[in-house]
Amino acid sequence: MFILLLGAPGSGKGTQGKILAERLGLPKITTGDILRTAVTTGTPLGREAKKFMDEGKLVPDAVILSLIKEELAKPEGWQGAVLDGFPRTAAQAELVDRTLGERGQRLNHILLLDVPEEELVRRMTSRAAQEGRSDDTAEAIKTRLQVYQRDTAPLIAHFAQRGIVHRVPGTGTVDAIATEIRRIIGR
Ligand code: ADP
Repeated sequence: MFILLLGAPGSGKGTQGKILAERLGLPKITTGDILRTAVTTGTPLGREAKKFMDEGKLVPDAVILSLIKEELAKPEGWQGAVLDGFPRTAAQAELVDRTLGERGQRLNHILLLDVPEEELVRRMTSRAAQEGRSDDTAEAIKTRLQVYQRDTAPLIAHFAQRGIVHRVPGTGTVDAIATEIRRIIGR
């Protein structure tokens, strides 16, 4: 089973994705974490991605598409995975659809974590104080929210046509949201 977590930055995709992946025994593929590790270790991918990430912009598809291909090809994800942080553009969605389609698979569920913008900003700002993520600055947060609306939110309509999008209220306790997701997925 392939489950995609969709939502604005700060909506809790990472937190809920981790709980969900552990419960279902599926790997979680998180492009943001892969990129942050690449930046820290200074790989060519990291060197290329860093500037975009720090500014809150998307790393260009020219770079990301091969990363996604590589991740989906890993044997541990053949039977399913929780996707966190991608697809985030139309080209990425096409690649995921095509790659799974070639294997006779598809995205089964899309969970759209719905959080009001002022709460998103509040969460990212307080996370900045705790974790010191370089893209949790006021300027980068603003850009990330704009980029989400412009490039990623349109994917909701694309997937909604297939009837696989579930809107999950993303405010409330972590447990309550996890319970709602469990109800939606049915396990
Ligand atoms: P958030 O969703 O909270 O902004 P992520 O960890 O998902 O956090 O992403 C952090 C940054 O990593 C993004 O702003 C972007 O620069 C880069 N990134 C992550 N995933 C992708 C992706 N699929 N395509 C392009 N850039 C990405």
